[in-house]
Amino acid sequence: MAKGTAVITGGLVLTANGDATPADLLLHDDTIAAIAPAGSVTSESTRRIDATNRLIIPGLINAHTHSHGGLAKGSGDRWSLETLLNAGPWLNGGRTEDDRYLSAVLTAVEMLRKGCTACYDLAAMLPVPTAAALDNVARAYTDVGIRAVIAPMVADRSFYQAIPDLLDAFPGDLRPLAEALRTVPGETTLAAIRDAATHWSYPRDRIRLGVAPTIPLHCSEEFMRGCRDLAIEHGLPLQTHLAESAVQRVAALRQYGTTLTGHLDRLGVLGPRFSAAHAIWIDAAEVDLIASHGGAIAHNPGSNLRLGNGIADMRPAIARGIHVGVGTDGSSSADNQNMFEAMRLTAFVSRVFDRPPEDWIGAVEALRLATEGSAAVLGMQDIIGKIAPGFKADLVFLDLDNVNLVPLNHATQQLVNGEDGTAVRDVMIGGDYVLRDGAVLGVDWPRVVTQAREAAARLKETNAATRAATERLAPLISQFCVGLGRQAHDLPRRLMAHA
Ligand SMILES: [Zn+2]
Repeated sequence: MAKGTAVITGGLVLTANGDATPADLLLHDDTIAAIAPAGSVTSESTRRIDATNRLIIPGLINAHTHSHGGLAKGSGDRWSLETLLNAGPWLNGGRTEDDRYLSAVLTAVEMLRKGCTACYDLAAMLPVPTAAALDNVARAYTDVGIRAVIAPMVADRSFYQAIPDLLDAFPGDLRPLAEALRTVPGETTLAAIRDAATHWSYPRDRIRLGVAPTIPLHCSEEFMRGCRDLAIEHGLPLQTHLAESAVQRVAALRQYGTTLTGHLDRLGVLGPRFSAAHAIWIDAAEVDLIASHGGAIAHNPGSNLRLGNGIADMRPAIARGIHVGVGTDGSSSADNQNMFEAMRLTAFVSRVFDRPPEDWIGAVEALRLATEGSAAVLGMQDIIGKIAPGFKADLVFLDLDNVNLVPLNHATQQLVNGEDGTAVRDVMIGGDYVLRDGAVLGVDWPRVVTQAREAAARLKETNAATRAATERLAPLISQFCVGLGRQAHDLPRRLMAHA
């Protein structure tokens, strides 16, 4: 990492208030040392990096994704969350260790090409998150060059066991199909993560281990406490899908006699390392609980729309001081890994609630959520998320001749409201280019393309029987869950009534 001193000169630098001004960025090794007036760094001994005709912005940070989605992109269309979960065994099943690496490379490359420099990856590693599985995902991020929290997505109950009375609703011939789709014992999973945490060898500022008890309803109380203890003992960030669907809210009230957040609070899971992905179906008391424990929320507006889960209202959470970051969610539910689109949707969906325009999320705020906010979700807010002295040189260079930025009337408004990633030319992470003139430097892309096509064809064969079984279950699940979810509309707190 000893690169010495360098200066990025000739470009426009995006400032915290959203303006773009000519400036030099002085780097020392992998870190920004100073922001200096344009052309002021003239020392002969300083390496010069030309950024003429480039707009330099902080790397966008994806607060919630799933690397296993890379190989499954485009697999579904009119899926609710519950029919997506039902498809999980064939979408993500039968993977080899090479497939895990490949899927994470696909996910990471897409993020990088679209201006994202770090992510929180809830990675499925069925049946158990072994050291080899974690290593393959970590290697993918290392090769592509982006930073990541890799949190094995784990549970000790299947989706079918998690929804009250669902198994009983299956007719006799279908019930064994659902019962066959089981998880491994919780202690086996927890032991694997404990082992990984004890032997973690990746630099923590690059690749960090986390833990993701996937959905509270899929985790027994004992298992959830086990995840909590791992997070505390090893300083791991913990993320769960919280109240992503109306079904989950109703099921939790029925099963726990309290809300999902109330349930997690009782188990001692909330805290500064905790983040909730989605948080659509939460009420004001739950917002207060997350806020009072210093927790965070990963907002995924694209996924929430795609799966018909509703629109999460982030204004009350932001107003209560919760760190809100922005995510894409995985390629099975989003479907792209485009943080520009996620920012744009963050701004736009904030406008459907009954509030005056002054309370909508504007461009400058959306960009801040997708950088500083997401950095806080990853627990990396001290090192990434800003162009400022002391922060890592994770920088995205956009082509000022790209039609999205011509003419440049207001940099941040054009980035959030109009940019789609096509103006991204170069990306630097820790002071090194990892995307240069549109090419990903760390992987052999033609080889990845060939391998991905081969893997997809093979997985289609491998998972054909599982797919056929889950497709037989799907209509019943859809019908059952629509009925269950409707009960949420009888609750005092409705989708658009948080304020
Ligand atoms: Zn997710």
